[in-house]
Amino acid sequence: MRDAPSRRHFLAGASAAFAATAVAATGAAATLTALPGCATAPPAKASPPDVLLVTLCSARADRLGASGYATRPTTPNLDRFAATAARFSHAWANGTWTNAAHASLLTGLLPGHHRVEDQLDKLVPGAPTLPGLLAAAGWRTGALLQEQGAMTLDARSDLLRDVSKVLDTPDLRRFSPDALVEWIGRDAAPFFALVTLREAHLPYGDGGAFGAALHPDVVAWRAALPRPGSGEAAVWADASDPNAWIAARAAADPAVRASLDLAYDAGLAAADAAFGRLLTALEATGRLANAVVVVVGDHGEALPGHKDRLDRAVLRVPMLIRAAGLQAVAVADTVSQVDVLPTVLGLAGLPLPKLRDGQDLGPALRGEALPERGALSQAFPRDGSGALRVRSAYAKGALRVVQAESAAGAEPGSVARGSAEREAADGRVSTEPPGPAVDALVAEMTALAADTWVPAGPAAPVSAAVREQMRARGYW
Ligand SMILES: [Zn+2]
Repeated sequence: MRDAPSRRHFLAGASAAFAATAVAATGAAATLTALPGCATAPPAKASPPDVLLVTLCSARADRLGASGYATRPTTPNLDRFAATAARFSHAWANGTWTNAAHASLLTGLLPGHHRVEDQLDKLVPGAPTLPGLLAAAGWRTGALLQEQGAMTLDARSDLLRDVSKVLDTPDLRRFSPDALVEWIGRDAAPFFALVTLREAHLPYGDGGAFGAALHPDVVAWRAALPRPGSGEAAVWADASDPNAWIAARAAADPAVRASLDLAYDAGLAAADAAFGRLLTALEATGRLANAVVVVVGDHGEALPGHKDRLDRAVLRVPMLIRAAGLQAVAVADTVSQVDVLPTVLGLAGLPLPKLRDGQDLGPALRGEALPERGALSQAFPRDGSGALRVRSAYAKGALRVVQAESAAGAEPGSVARGSAEREAADGRVSTEPPGPAVDALVAEMTALAADTWVPAGPAAPVSAAVREQMRARGYW
């Protein structure tokens, strides 16, 4: 049941532009430390705003402190930011892995529309991109990628075709915002910057951030996975698939399961620390006061793995949006990554492209009701023969349906009955029995999947060596 007005409430006392004192998203009063530079931030300039898009690889919405996670203090920096922003509690990833999700974020198109499925796939011809649209209106465009050598989103990717300056983080395990700050400081013209933070991606962290040692099995699993940029995959002595091995160990032994959780939390905490360094550095430039800042997970994590999985843990992602002049607000409407492009363009005062699948979330940022929309997520696994399969999941309000494994073939016209689940107000999820509500949602999902299906763009060949490294990292 949807009851947007009662589930959305302004967080009184928190200004979207750098509140020193805020009210936590739970509604309980909390005093928070001012963000660095807040007290001395200059008054907001007139438009156009700078645009900062921060993506958190493998970030599960339910592991943020701002979402109520209390097992460990995973995200103090994100929590402080969330208290000054619009926090979307029901945000869904449209893709199940880095490139597919970033394609939806950067184009505003669903996976069937942009057709980025593999490592070096190109976007379908004519697909608009957020940096391209902003560049045409006078913005500078840059990206700081904690991805170089990670074999996913990097400077070769067609997703960045409209980004004029692609910057690298020299040390993937020690994020530095310095290069981005230097680039921003070169010019007073408004900028668009994409920053990817990837520490929450497997093999996660080592647990030391929380003063705990990992289980030996988790230590062995982490050692078996090649680090981004490390080159050759390590030899795995006991099994050909380290993720399947650790998943079996975790299912059999609660201590291994708990240690995997700890490792993931440590990875997320490292990403949060990187976000804190980024925000501190950008606050010091004085340019965030008038900026649109979007922080979003590209996909979650099923501990371990995510690609081609339609689990709730993989698809429910954090989404935070802050812009000058807007108050912090909690939004429970169903939204997804394709909404980011129209929302940013709306905040920048620019027209929306004709080809788009998302909606402008501007009304929600102002505390107004949104038209009710569903969130479509899709995966395109390939079977043993290399044939493309299509799987979809669709969430709307409290109800979610997940398509059963489809027959081989690329057309998504026939959506077999899969599973359905309902989320209670307290967040608990239960199986939803068959009935008219499920049938209606499946029909919506089927129609949307068919409507947004287009022929693929030209795919770049992936070498056997890269494919093997990607597989070792859990991608194929
Ligand atoms: Zn990712």
